[in-house]
Amino acid sequence: MHTKVVKFGGTSLADAGQFKKVADIILSDKSRRFVVPSAPGKRYSDDIKVTDMLYACYEKASKGEDFSAAFDAIKERYMSIIKELGLDISLEDEFAKIKQGFIGKAGRDYAASRGEYLSGIVLSKLLGFNFVDPANYIFFNEQGVFDMEKTNKALGEKLAKLPNAVIPGFYGSMPNDTIKTFSRGGSDITGSIVARAANAEIYENWTDVSGFLIADPRIVPNPEPITAITYRELRELSYMGATVLHEDAIFPVRTAGIPINIRNTNDPSAPGTMIVPTAPEGAPKYTITGIAGKKGFSVITIEKDMMNSELGFGRKLLEVIEENRISFEHLPSGIDTMSVIASTASIEGREEKIISDIKDACAPDHVEIEHGLALIAVVGRGMKSTRGVAARIFAALAHAHINIKMIDQGSSELNIIVGVNESDFEEAMRRIYEIFVL
Ligand code: ASP
Repeated sequence: MHTKVVKFGGTSLADAGQFKKVADIILSDKSRRFVVPSAPGKRYSDDIKVTDMLYACYEKASKGEDFSAAFDAIKERYMSIIKELGLDISLEDEFAKIKQGFIGKAGRDYAASRGEYLSGIVLSKLLGFNFVDPANYIFFNEQGVFDMEKTNKALGEKLAKLPNAVIPGFYGSMPNDTIKTFSRGGSDITGSIVARAANAEIYENWTDVSGFLIADPRIVPNPEPITAITYRELRELSYMGATVLHEDAIFPVRTAGIPINIRNTNDPSAPGTMIVPTAPEGAPKYTITGIAGKKGFSVITIEKDMMNSELGFGRKLLEVIEENRISFEHLPSGIDTMSVIASTASIEGREEKIISDIKDACAPDHVEIEHGLALIAVVGRGMKSTRGVAARIFAALAHAHINIKMIDQGSSELNIIVGVNESDFEEAMRRIYEIFVL
């Protein structure tokens, strides 16, 4: 039997109209057997997601404040969906139980998870599908770490017996049976876990954009979509700030080699982006797959004559970095210089201590810290087989009078990272896009 696992994000389930679109998408393809819903999200830009309403409501309850108005507002979101869909179900008992849970301080995670739980009940009724509560099949260990093997076995056995099911996203349970959620946006992870457990041929992740774009549309006007991207390329881009999919959602399906297809609920005929285990046959359309970047980095530069031949210099420096609890991003080095690039947030306010620790440990000729660096990652599997990629990036930036402060090419030849002043960040992104895509 063909099996697709489909996950729908919050905006895809924000109101009754969106629920209808979702049902049409699922029912138009018989292989869409297992469905993972999020909680209803925003209907308009300053609306509040049900998950955030639940957190706020629980906060009130846990302080012993009156939470009835906040609770009724959440109830109303679901009631209006049910009513408009014409569904003959009552959620009264469920809401009574949830209220008891709030009064009994069942936990913040329990509270937040009810958004997905209720979405799941409504969607399963709308579709006529089975309902599977992930509290019984998705497990965390004593330390609160997701238990992949236990989950895969239990969930796999359960799903093998069912023709179809709705499995709410975002949560599972602890060994003591309390509810635990993944981090925010975690329904993406549930979808991936279900896809692996069901041996799906594809994991469709339905959202409100038609896949990944080559660059951030807030910076580059109308960027082209990415049709296919490998897991590794995606990892590089999401690390640098491209967000559509939760970062941890890649691992379960990656293990099983299942592709992810990012699709748009509001434009179901668009093919979206395919995230695949290995590069598809043939040359990609462009040398680069995507560009992503982030501001907010600092550089610690250390100079010392003959550093090059001093055994253990790097170790001593990195020990200081570790002792100061700085997680570094890059470590470009010259003959007698070494730089540590890390987020400004991890350094700011502690510059003097860091400099003095480095002086004590490494006896350098000079140490300085500079803030205001932005990093841009140019990612693409096509780079390996193309000459002149770096030259094109540098020429594009030179023509725009943008100074490159750092260059780093991963040994996989999958990316080139350049550091520029934060004030040049947006222009640099546009110039790089233009040179490869336009
Ligand atoms: N509803 C949860 C959140 O808002 C999980 C999700 O939508 O993926 O973070």
